[in-house]
Amino acid sequence: SDPLPPELETKTATDATRKAYSVAVERTPEIQEARLQLPVVAEEQKIMEAIHNNDVVVVWGATGSGKTTQVPQFLYEAGYGAPDGPTPGMIGVTQPRRVAAVSMSKRVGDELGSEKAKVAYQIRFDTSTSAKTAVKFMTDGVLLREISQDFILTKYSAIVIDEAHERSVNTDILIGMLSRIVDLRADLAKKDPKKNKPLKLIIMSATLRISDFTDNKRLFRQGPPPLLKAEGRQYEVTNHFARKTQRDYVEEMFRKVCRGHRKLPRGGMLVFLTGQNEITHLAKRLRQTFTSSQSKEVTTGKVQISPEQTSLETEDIELGANKDDYHDDDGSDSDDSIITGLDNDEDKDEFEDEGGFDIEEGETESEELKVHVLPLYSQLPTNQQMRVFDAPPEGSRLIVLATNVAETSLTIPGIRYVFDCGRAKEKKYDLTTGVQTFEVGWISKASANQRAGRAGRTGPGHCYRLYSSAVFERDFDEYAEPEIMRTPLEAVVLQLKSMGAPVLGFPFPTPPDRTNLQKAENLLLYLGAVSLDGKVTKLGHELSLYPLNPRFARILVMGVAQNLTAQTIALVAALSAPELITPENKLGLREPPLADPSHIRTEQDNVEAEERSRLRKAYNKALAKLAVNAKHSDCIKLNNAVCAYAYESDGDAFCEDMFLNAKAMREAGQLRQQLTSIVRAHRPTALSAYQTKLPAPSSSEVNLLAQICAAGFIDQIALRADLAPIPPELPRKPKTAIDVPYLTLFSSTSQRASKEDPARQYVYLHPSSLLARTPPAKLPAYIIYSHLQRAAPSTVDATTSPKTRMHPLTPVTRPQIVNIALNT
Ligand code: ADP
Ligand code: MG
Repeated sequence: SDPLPPELETKTATDATRKAYSVAVERTPEIQEARLQLPVVAEEQKIMEAIHNNDVVVVWGATGSGKTTQVPQFLYEAGYGAPDGPTPGMIGVTQPRRVAAVSMSKRVGDELGSEKAKVAYQIRFDTSTSAKTAVKFMTDGVLLREISQDFILTKYSAIVIDEAHERSVNTDILIGMLSRIVDLRADLAKKDPKKNKPLKLIIMSATLRISDFTDNKRLFRQGPPPLLKAEGRQYEVTNHFARKTQRDYVEEMFRKVCRGHRKLPRGGMLVFLTGQNEITHLAKRLRQTFTSSQSKEVTTGKVQISPEQTSLETEDIELGANKDDYHDDDGSDSDDSIITGLDNDEDKDEFEDEGGFDIEEGETESEELKVHVLPLYSQLPTNQQMRVFDAPPEGSRLIVLATNVAETSLTIPGIRYVFDCGRAKEKKYDLTTGVQTFEVGWISKASANQRAGRAGRTGPGHCYRLYSSAVFERDFDEYAEPEIMRTPLEAVVLQLKSMGAPVLGFPFPTPPDRTNLQKAENLLLYLGAVSLDGKVTKLGHELSLYPLNPRFARILVMGVAQNLTAQTIALVAALSAPELITPENKLGLREPPLADPSHIRTEQDNVEAEERSRLRKAYNKALAKLAVNAKHSDCIKLNNAVCAYAYESDGDAFCEDMFLNAKAMREAGQLRQQLTSIVRAHRPTALSAYQTKLPAPSSSEVNLLAQICAAGFIDQIALRADLAPIPPELPRKPKTAIDVPYLTLFSSTSQRASKEDPARQYVYLHPSSLLARTPPAKLPAYIIYSHLQRAAPSTVDATTSPKTRMHPLTPVTRPQIVNIALNT
């Protein structure tokens, strides 16, 4: 017989050495049996073979096939992560979301039985890692920071990038960097195989849009990585499309879930909505309609709103909000179905899989069932998020109302039914104007399938879609656009540059728009982080030390220079705690709804209107407290909130009273601590110790703080339009502050302001700003803003176009601007 070809011979040899080392794991019989059902487990041999023979592999498997829970275990059993094994170094698994990192580490720990203690998680401000940790689940942001501290990731033997199909900016950057790190580690291992081991990279995706990784010549020099498929899904999920697509999807969701609860056999429900307010609203109505298993209402916040508001950009609604900009356009008063213009007529007669609720079995059984309604969204405190994993009380049906957070990664036990509104709140970013919009728009087909997949994880399931198959086919994109295409990039550019990575030549899976990169570069130039030749300056390196957007890092460094360190740290923490300013909850203030009589429909709504007016008063009072000494600056207002919080013994109660987001406030506190230790390490003389409780700043300190704050927004100054050299034609005298036009001074793309610049634009105060409460005549000439936002055009009625609004704001004077310009 022919001798074996040499490459096969070596392969057999490595196989033999590999088998010689494995870690014994004792699992419970139930876990053992459940594992055997998973498609990924059937592929263990092939997957591990590929990992041993290649430094990079891509694993594809439908959601629920076992990627997240099993692949880390395969690696662990094969000896990755064993300090005395052939491949010492941890197994790192990244997740785009914190809640996934925490819950998946728990699950894998449970599955590993005897080896439970080896699994841990690390997310921002929270970790369970120890010296024993061999498998570490973390957010992609955590790994990115580790790379900036130790570029070749010495501590790791394998990195698993999970949910790569989500294409978050962090995931994309990680994959680009790891493609180089893998090469470096391979070279080192070749030079000294005893001391250095190669790094294995496993990219996992639930969709087949992976050509950006596999066919990308810039990405992997060793050639396209092999693709391993785990075909099949654990349980069938039947999709039921709606016959008609209702515009008021929150109302429709309420109807469908009610009907589902009455008619469907036992089994948990997972309901996808677009935001916190919608969830709170629906939770309340469900608990009112059915007997709730929860004797006391869960604290999900006291904000309640009517469905007209919830169906769109509700979070933008604030006291005195300009209705034209923020209210829904359809008069969805009646109970009649409102068919969107999107649906064509043929659609109406079409039978879509029997319309959804024709599974009649068990009708009477469910009649007596109580409901156990739980919310799940990113701003909910972690311990409350984790409650969805507990079994519901006997005799009740678990109904989880979730945002996109539940779309990937999570397995909520017992979910049999998914209700999908088909929409998500998406951040859009206009590259020319720098305006961000938060739009409720259709999700992609891939996302819709992910959502449906949530129903088939622990048994066969059903997915009820609130849209017709015609809409699905015609209006849903195949995949969502990678986040890197629709987000500002200054943080990415500074990080790449400070690590010495070329920005234009960086192996992005999908290269971002050149204009966007240029814009980021210009901003870094303004901030003094890079020099004219594009090199990172000393200041730039200092800025990159902080886990902050470069703008905020600049503010912090300015504060240190001005001898206002402790105060500036609080300010920066207030401005940048991750969820303090989000579309969900701008400023960390839970905004009470508008007490707008046009939304009153029923007797019950009347009661709610009273409640709303009570909330409105309470909110005004809270705001008045925070506004003390703030001199109309929203940034100082936020700073006041963070400083006052530190004095409270019961922080949560304080947040409740002050309409602040408790989770965001806690994180702002943790960020203060973290920033303090970085400042102290870097500039030991700037700060003696961490001071939680700060004395209130004096009036001159407030002025200085406002000016320091402006240093981060040097390119974001607006001038009251009637004071402009050539004032615009103002149609009528603005009645309220939020109608007064301002003009942005700088374009966001070019370095110099010019008259013809399309990026110069009219902008307006945000209704939640302190200045919005000032008489129009008294508004300041200059304002510095942090963000430009605009409600999506679809959320306003056709006669007015939405205004671009600035938020949060700080008034500045001309001398202050000159001062800033000289100082930066
Ligand atoms: P994938 O990452 O491919 O989407 P996972 O590895 O997350 O799949 O989950 C695979 C299967 O493991 C699920 O379908 C489910 O049956 C089971 N599983 C995962 N997490 C849990 C959990 N917390 N409780 C019960 N079963 C779980
Ligand atoms: Mg997964």
